[in-house]
Amino acid sequence: MIYVCEKCHFTFERVGSIEQCPDCGKMSIRQANEEEVNKDLQIKDEFRKTNLLFVDQRKEHG
Ligand SMILES: [Zn+2]
Repeated sequence: MIYVCEKCHFTFERVGSIEQCPDCGKMSIRQANEEEVNKDLQIKDEFRKTNLLFVDQRKEHG
């Protein structure tokens, strides 16, 4: 389940329910809508791409 904080718009994934924002600590958490979920997935995809080289380098060291 993906949640978003209404105060700081921090988007995060949690299993089960959560009431408090892990970023700002406000109790203003709601489920992310489809648009926000897609945006979150996009950011994670970009993050993966930019870190692929780094991950490959780490593999070489076993
Ligand atoms: Zn927050």
